[in-house]
Amino acid sequence: MAQSIGFIGLGIMGQPMALNLVKAGYSVSVFNRTRDKAEPLERAGARIASSPAEAARGADFVVSIVSDSAASEQVIAGKDGVIETVRAGAIVIDSSTISPVVSRKLACHTAGKKAAFLDAPVTGSKHGAEKGELTFMIGGERETFDRAMPLLKVLGKKHIYCGENGAGLSAKLAQNAIQSTMVEIFCEGFVLATKAGVRPETMLEIVQSSMARAALTDFKAPFIFKGDFTPYFPLKWMHKDVTLAMETAFSHGVPMPVTAAVKEVYASARAQGKGDLDYAAVITFLEELAKVKVRSSDEQKTESGKA
Ligand code: NAP
Repeated sequence: MAQSIGFIGLGIMGQPMALNLVKAGYSVSVFNRTRDKAEPLERAGARIASSPAEAARGADFVVSIVSDSAASEQVIAGKDGVIETVRAGAIVIDSSTISPVVSRKLACHTAGKKAAFLDAPVTGSKHGAEKGELTFMIGGERETFDRAMPLLKVLGKKHIYCGENGAGLSAKLAQNAIQSTMVEIFCEGFVLATKAGVRPETMLEIVQSSMARAALTDFKAPFIFKGDFTPYFPLKWMHKDVTLAMETAFSHGVPMPVTAAVKEVYASARAQGKGDLDYAAVITFLEELAKVKVRSSDEQKTESGKA
């Protein structure tokens, strides 16, 4: 008989991940707070559960990917949460990017029901989720990691064991401190170049011919130049992650002066109402300060045609 999965959270990441599990032949029961988002999964062959507890009932695995620490606590340990019904021997895999401290508490709750727990945050964004090519950073017992591997292989191309519960999240927060800063500093440089009269395409050619070239900014540049900030990774979640990185740094006594400054840039863009846009929209905050727009020549022509 197919192994069963309770899957919780069908946002940008959860929708395609759950779909890949259905396509791989698992018996999947899905829960999403906003029910509409579960309907495409039902059409693909999943069952819709009315609560996280119902999704988890009798399941071999429970996977959750929700927005933040409060949401993970709610769906796992809250009323009608996973803990109420999870069976002994099941594995709960939380792929949400949340506080390592909160995640370790959730692991303790799960252990109280004789189920295992992995923090398994991901990188790879929407495309990686759609293609089943995510990279997982995993904390928990090694034996649990090994047992979960067949399922994790459906969702990702790389699975990196980081250590005990919470270690996957600590790694993820460090990674997003790096990633948030790379995009922010790329944007700062392009605002300066454009204001000083260098075309964005010319500046990109320079960056791509130098050691500053990065896969991340190669990917983001065409979207920035078009002013297309359709969310792959919403800015509000990047702000959450740099905030969590700073909290984690505080708890370990680690100074992160650049991350501290970058956090406030994302906070400012979020306060301006840009939280639901992709995090590359951080450039629009910098553009407004400098009174310049970093757009490709074609896009500039279109914009001036509209005016
Ligand atoms: P999203 O599209 O905003 O989806 C968030 C999900 O969380 C939705 O299913 C939402 O339900 C649910 N949720 C929020 N609060 C809840 C609550 N109190 N109770 C129950 N469900 C709740 O976000 P996403 O981009 O998929 O990201 C999900 C997680 O993955 C976040 O922790 C994010 O940092 C991380 N992540 C995202 C990316 C990316 O590129 N997008 C990459 C790596 C990691 P509703 O539909 O009802 O709102």
